[in-house]
Amino acid sequence: MEELNPYVISQMQFDQAADYLKLDPGLRQVLRRPKRVMAVSIPTKMDDGSVQVFEGFRVQHNIARGPAKGGIRYHPNVSLDEVKALAAWMAWKTAVVNIPFGGGKGGVICDPRKMSRGELERMTRRFVTEILPIIGPDRDIPAPDVYTDEQTMAWVMDTYSMTVGYSCLGVVTGKPVSLGGSEGRHEATAMGCLFVTREACKVKKIPLRGASVAIQGYGNAGSIAARLFREAGAKIIAVSDSKGGIANPRGLDPLKVLKHKEKTGAVAKFPGSSPVTNEELLELKCDILIPAALENVITSQNVSRIKAKIIAEAANGPTTPLADEVLAEKGVFMLPDILANAGGVTVSYFEWVQDLQNFFWEEDQVNTKLEQIMKRAFHEVYETSQKYKTHMRTAAYILAVGRVAEATIVRGLFP
Ligand code: NAD
Repeated sequence: MEELNPYVISQMQFDQAADYLKLDPGLRQVLRRPKRVMAVSIPTKMDDGSVQVFEGFRVQHNIARGPAKGGIRYHPNVSLDEVKALAAWMAWKTAVVNIPFGGGKGGVICDPRKMSRGELERMTRRFVTEILPIIGPDRDIPAPDVYTDEQTMAWVMDTYSMTVGYSCLGVVTGKPVSLGGSEGRHEATAMGCLFVTREACKVKKIPLRGASVAIQGYGNAGSIAARLFREAGAKIIAVSDSKGGIANPRGLDPLKVLKHKEKTGAVAKFPGSSPVTNEELLELKCDILIPAALENVITSQNVSRIKAKIIAEAANGPTTPLADEVLAEKGVFMLPDILANAGGVTVSYFEWVQDLQNFFWEEDQVNTKLEQIMKRAFHEVYETSQKYKTHMRTAAYILAVGRVAEATIVRGLFP
């Protein structure tokens, strides 16, 4: 369905900003499409001795402002269009927070939940070998995304380093701290989300202390957001993962829920909670809704039933453009993905800087700098929304596309 193709959606979002900015038609064509797309086959020896060939992609949307930057996703529903959309969103995201990167993304069609650690390691190493010609600390720097983590990034670093013949820390971010990772990177996406939500609460005059929060997805972004929002005084009334959700209007303890998930493999059946489906969770009465799983969960089908006052998109692409319009009419304050989850790439930038300088920062320093950048980005987007009399998503795109357009114009067209 057109409404749900993330690449079509990302181009619609771009077009809207380009109209506001009155971009020249030639420049529009340059910024609208990916600069480079690589599709690879990844033959992998499975534990039973058979060979399975996985399909993988690396897309670089734009590198006008610096090297491409973006995660690697492992999921059965990965497609080239999804990776192209995610790469474009990265280009706009790095521009919203004004860090010197372009946008890229990678993905492999696989189901990591059904693969052994050995199979995942061999698949990762072969994928990295296949995309090696286009990645590197000055070219394109991957990071974690759905179903990839610190261990995956360590394999990326090792495979690249073994091939070039020296230890290269800056080729990938989201690494373990013992391997040139940054303090604070693990929490960065959720912490950035908290910082911008705090600013949104001030605008909407909703005290964060005591605010009710529902979170879809209980991985890196979702589970840490639950913990940080609770520490900030909010009440986590519902959370979910791919197997379903749980609710408790009196509030859930995120750390206990995480322990339960680690033990049983799911948040479901957490003692003292009642079950909710992923669909019901989105429609709960709450102050703040945080989609932190996958794309296209708030659509024209369910938007009329969304009751949250603020939506903070920790996930990439959770809201379709049609739903966006309805939310704006309803007066829901939207913190769009390219702002709300930009904390991850911001601390990835800090990690890359530390790796290149071989000089590492304390966690406090990381979090203080992250807060400065996220607050500044929030206020720049908010001011843009006031100036252009538009909602926060379009404002974020106007700011981002404007910055990439300016860099492209001053560089000029080669040759
Ligand atoms: P993760 O693999 O750590 O967790 C994903 C979570 O989503 C898991 O709890 C999983 O059970 C849940 N999930 C999967 N399918 C679901 C479904 N159909 N319904 C409900 N829940 C489902 O991934 P993550 O890194 O937390 O990424 C989540 C989102 O945040 C993605 O959109 C990703 O692009 C975005 N994001 C992540 C980062 C980061 O630094 N990790 C940065 C920016 C944006």
